[in-house]
Amino acid sequence: TAILLDGDVLARRRFDELAARVVSLAKRGVVPRLATVLVGDNPASQSYIGRKHENCAELGMASDDIRLRGDISEDALIAQVEALNADPLIHGALVQLPLPAHLDEGRVGEAVSPAKDVDGLHPMNLGRLLAGTPGLLPCTPAGIEDLLRAHDVPLAGRRVAIIGRGMLVGRPLAMLLSLPGTDAEVTLLHRRSPDLAEVTRQADVVVSAAGQPDLVTADMIRPGAAVVGVGITYVDGGMVSDIADEVAQVAGHITPRHGSVGAMTRAHLLSNLVRIAEAG
Ligand code: NAD
Repeated sequence: TAILLDGDVLARRRFDELAARVVSLAKRGVVPRLATVLVGDNPASQSYIGRKHENCAELGMASDDIRLRGDISEDALIAQVEALNADPLIHGALVQLPLPAHLDEGRVGEAVSPAKDVDGLHPMNLGRLLAGTPGLLPCTPAGIEDLLRAHDVPLAGRRVAIIGRGMLVGRPLAMLLSLPGTDAEVTLLHRRSPDLAEVTRQADVVVSAAGQPDLVTADMIRPGAAVVGVGITYVDGGMVSDIADEVAQVAGHITPRHGSVGAMTRAHLLSNLVRIAEAG
């Protein structure tokens, strides 16, 4: 059976490494501080935000949990973000997505200072990644690369199929893994792809970030390939992965049904925060 790509265990190790760097910073009188902005009361967002603050506290870092009404105007939200940009005690800031429909996620995201963009999703940081001179990396792609490398899954000269071209995961991950030095051959698949299985069956690594329950089935996977499930869908109050259970029978490495990539995402969010504080 497949080796587990256990991001929960690896993230623990990353948190311990970060905690040691936080101790060194404290000796210089610096306490990394994260500010998060949550608009409205989306329950999934509330739980994601809650975990980020728990992790900050565990690592001895400070954090501000700013909650705003769901009917806030775009200008008022941007003014709040600009206040965080201007606050010298705050090292990193993020606005939790998704935003209510009347707010333009692109405009709000661009308001976060690229230097405090712990999510690594500001167009400036995405542009640096595209240009091959990465600044702050997007957390989920960085977490996935770390998860694969830590388990010695080879990437250089290997075929990687990524399902989903979203800005949070699929597209930046394709850029990251195809950088010179990492050297994966990446195919980015999406809703209009003519035949997912034709490509995934040739792949050494398959990453699914589509958000479609059980999209990836065993017949789509070359025996021994590494499979990473990122997409999750809430069905009847439970979470369903993009990866069908049966895939574990053929894969060489596989993420567990739950967690894993989420934990790695938070580890890399906090890694960005510590990096900003160290650069101070
Ligand atoms: P998105 O909606 O922006 O992108 C989804 C992509 O999947 C699109 O490019 C679409 O073309 C593709 N797609 C959808 N159905 C498909 C199908 N049947 N066949 C092929 N392609 C298909 O989403 P996103 O923001 O990039 O997030 C993707 C998923 O990852 C979501 O389920 C999200 O919840 C999850 N996610 C998880 C974490 C984590 O930490 N675990 C972090 C970020 C996102």
